[in-house]
Amino acid sequence: MIHYKSPREIDRMAVPGEMVALTFQTIAGLVHAGTTTQEIDDVVRDFVKDLGGKPLFLGYNGFPAHCCISVNDEVVHGIPGDRVLLEGDLVSIDIGIEAEGFCGDSARTYLIGEGDDTSRQVLSVCRAALAAGIDGARPGSTLVKMIEAIESVIRESRLGLVESFVGHGIGRQMHEEPQVPNFVSPVLRRTDIELRPGLVLAIEPMVNAGTGAVQTLDDGWTVVSADGGISAHCEHTVAITEQGPRVLTLGPGECWPPASGTPGQ
Ligand code: MG
Ligand code: MG
Repeated sequence: MIHYKSPREIDRMAVPGEMVALTFQTIAGLVHAGTTTQEIDDVVRDFVKDLGGKPLFLGYNGFPAHCCISVNDEVVHGIPGDRVLLEGDLVSIDIGIEAEGFCGDSARTYLIGEGDDTSRQVLSVCRAALAAGIDGARPGSTLVKMIEAIESVIRESRLGLVESFVGHGIGRQMHEEPQVPNFVSPVLRRTDIELRPGLVLAIEPMVNAGTGAVQTLDDGWTVVSADGGISAHCEHTVAITEQGPRVLTLGPGECWPPASGTPGQ
């Protein structure tokens, strides 16, 4: 069952959404060569506590950290630890926070330094796919049309579209109906829904340099590309309103669509 939110509830969802964005703004300066992913997670832990929010991922099915940090060939669900970030790394960070009884969920991918052509392309296609999805999150459209917009950006790039993980409805729970895959399947066509005001979705394309095939490491969490190619993950929590898409996971000084060159988006 889909839980549609009232305008007032969407305003409340902007509270955890902004907390997520503020956390990204706080850690952005740490995402550079020489930092360990544990140091970033420690800052996320302390900052979210100071904000009065609850990190959603800690303890979720036993996840052991406050955010997910997935570097290079890691696609999603990387566990922060003693890995030292290096020049040229492509670093995807996923943060979820609960506050006001609602959830916010967002992922940003950072390229440390200039990177190579492949890493720049993977990141720009992932950001463009997310932007296409957000632009399609309008009343009167359908879930399939919105997802077709995401899928076509990735397919046309000839990069790998990760099919094994999906976006989702979000509200009082982090994961609500409907599922939001990044490609259109026959099942999705059969179960398509109209996009109505009050629907809130976490839209989150994942793009690989090679194929979209993935596997999970022995730690039970870290998802990596099957062929070792690098990967990016970009996500926002987006409400469908009468006026169009409202991105809830934005912070002070941020807007949607982002100004070109805005870091982290
Ligand atoms: Mg997320
Ligand atoms: Mg999500």
